[in-house]
Amino acid sequence: MNKTITKSQIEGAAREAYSHAAGLSGGANADYIPFLANINPRLFGLSVMLPDGTSFNFGDTDYSFGIESISKVPTAILAMRQHTPAGVLNEIGADATGLPFNSIFAILLENDHPSTPLVNAGAISACSMIDPKGDADAKWNAITQNITDLCGSAPVLIDELYKSESATNFNNRAITWLLKNYNRIYDDPDMSLDLYTRQCSLGITSSQLAVMAATIASGGVNPLTGKQAFEPAIAPKITTLIATVGFYQHSGDWLYTSGIPAKSGVGGGVLGVLPGVLGIAAFAPPLDSAGNSVKAQAAVREFMQILGLGIMNGDRVTVTD
Ligand code: GLU
Repeated sequence: MNKTITKSQIEGAAREAYSHAAGLSGGANADYIPFLANINPRLFGLSVMLPDGTSFNFGDTDYSFGIESISKVPTAILAMRQHTPAGVLNEIGADATGLPFNSIFAILLENDHPSTPLVNAGAISACSMIDPKGDADAKWNAITQNITDLCGSAPVLIDELYKSESATNFNNRAITWLLKNYNRIYDDPDMSLDLYTRQCSLGITSSQLAVMAATIASGGVNPLTGKQAFEPAIAPKITTLIATVGFYQHSGDWLYTSGIPAKSGVGGGVLGVLPGVLGIAAFAPPLDSAGNSVKAQAAVREFMQILGLGIMNGDRVTVTD
């Protein structure tokens, strides 16, 4: 079916979804990373970006928060740019585990694969895949430049978060060495873990994340810069990974109820991709028990429901002025 929506309908839906979600309580900041426990829990922002560069922003959309797990998305894209989507499938995998993002059990169950670049094991493995191997500074530049290409502006390291996370990431250290045991770390293990920890500690705003989401929705063309940030063939692959595991062990429930592939992070961010139509991002620190932001997920879900959009609807969506 053909479906036409106007930009003002999109803006109105975002405004309404934002104001409803703003009234929600419940959830709690992540506290296993001490820095995140102290972020103001009342912060809340919602950003929508269209492929033509039109954007709508409500609330704290310029607040720079910890990107956390959402960093797994751009680094998976970079790994695909450098090693092809087939290479990432072969070296890491593309399977949902159905288990928490930091599960060691998942690695033991699937010792032939770290499952997917969008859980901790696969993301550490993805950091190890990034070229040039053996050169931490050059790898870090490649990771941050790729995020800049996707967002149209640079992320900024939150040093305190990096220190907080580095001092407490014992579970991720265990994951790294277990993966090394299975030959799924493709560079120095400590360096790979440190790059992963650093990328999780990057500060990003919801308006920047909405540009990243819209770049993916537009087959790699950044709506702000007009530049092709990655090959179009990567877009359906990264969107598939986001759809299958983006909301941790609630990914199925999420896609079923919201209709939009989305990736969340324990910093409170959510990035949603509706291919060919729009990118959306939201941020609010309190999380549900699976680690997904209570307000951000409610806002994105309601936005989709108001507009009657859904990736599985089979609609050909046109956005007009
Ligand atoms: N840096 C966090 C960790 O490794 C990211 C977790 C997340 O956002 O899912 O535990």
